[in-house]
Amino acid sequence: MYGKFQQHLQTELAAIEEAGLYKKERNIVSPQSAEITLEDGSKALNFCANNYLGLADNPRLIEAAKKAMDSKGYGMSSVRFICGTQDKHKELEKAVSDFFHTDDTILYAACFDANGGVFEPLFTAEDAIISDSLNHASIIDGVRLCKAQRFRYANADMADLERCLQEAQSCRFRIIATDGVFSMDGNVAPIDKICDLAEKYDALVMVDESHSAGVVGATGRGVAEQFDCYGRIDIFTGTLGKAFGGAVGGFTTGRKEIIDMLRQRSRPYLFSNSLPPMIVAAGLETFKILSESNELHDRQQENVKYFRDKMMAAGFDIKPTQSAICAVMLYDARLSQEFAARMAEEGIFVTGFYYPVVPKGEARIRVQLSAAHTRAHLDKAIEAFIKVGRELNVIK
Ligand SMILES: *Cc1c(COP(=O)(O)O)cnc(C)c1O
Repeated sequence: MYGKFQQHLQTELAAIEEAGLYKKERNIVSPQSAEITLEDGSKALNFCANNYLGLADNPRLIEAAKKAMDSKGYGMSSVRFICGTQDKHKELEKAVSDFFHTDDTILYAACFDANGGVFEPLFTAEDAIISDSLNHASIIDGVRLCKAQRFRYANADMADLERCLQEAQSCRFRIIATDGVFSMDGNVAPIDKICDLAEKYDALVMVDESHSAGVVGATGRGVAEQFDCYGRIDIFTGTLGKAFGGAVGGFTTGRKEIIDMLRQRSRPYLFSNSLPPMIVAAGLETFKILSESNELHDRQQENVKYFRDKMMAAGFDIKPTQSAICAVMLYDARLSQEFAARMAEEGIFVTGFYYPVVPKGEARIRVQLSAAHTRAHLDKAIEAFIKVGRELNVIK
């Protein structure tokens, strides 16, 4: 059997390669950081990680993880409800709830699982899920796993959301689902307006804080802080894999009964292993660091502002950003790939995105700023952007 299937795969893979969509991986030999070392010994500045607060190689997190292995072992060999819950899992859930000002939290192996397991236990064919068109793949998959009716509105378009809410009025329950920050433009969902519409049309609100937590809001508490919407959002999901340390782990946090029901019925929670002690301990240390001072958040925000202002002054077309994501617009797909490749030659890692990841004719370079970047790192990246930008006639 494999022969025919192999041929089929080889043809498909060749087509992916032909279309220039084949994803190659870079082998990093250093820890994840602002400055990384590659297999050939060369160094590069990293502007394409989700390491927003620079915690991915933080010594306090590493120490907490090591200590946890000594005192709590390596793995849990169980799901949470059988024999996979340690005291530290409950402490981490409490720390997440405190951070987001919510009633309770449930941990998952990843936010992909949190989103995959959040809709199906709560909603049925009588209900409606109203989803932003640019939501993350894991929300889309989570919606697919649920029998609820589906409605989709144009990205952050409140008139279109209102249309969906009106169409869904005959359903039993309605929930609006949105990313907090959209990863391609770096724009923040207008949560205050979403909450207003939710109240007007009797809907619940769910926000995925993966790209926004730790970054958005005066102290990085996410969209509820940014828009002063505490108490108006029913469900948050998020990841420990971005700003919060960058390893793995996800969570859903929100109203008490919702979290209770997820513990009873959410399949990625019931049928997948507990987070290992080292991840839980480093997670706890992350929230401890964030409660002690606002320094990392503030540095991250200053870096975004510095980078954006210098790039705009140099003549680049930058999408307005309210997050750690800065989109340098090039519009042309081929140019975006050439630009990113030239930047890599200059020792700067950034990612070029084009259709279908972004709309046709809106190709761009995505730059992700971190608290780990020093002024010298930023200046070097900006210098390289200007050099390559002139070479490729993007700026004068
Ligand atoms: C990264 C991301 C996820 C997935 O998080 P993992 O914990 O890595 O599975 C989910 N939702 C959004 C919006 C993300 O950006």
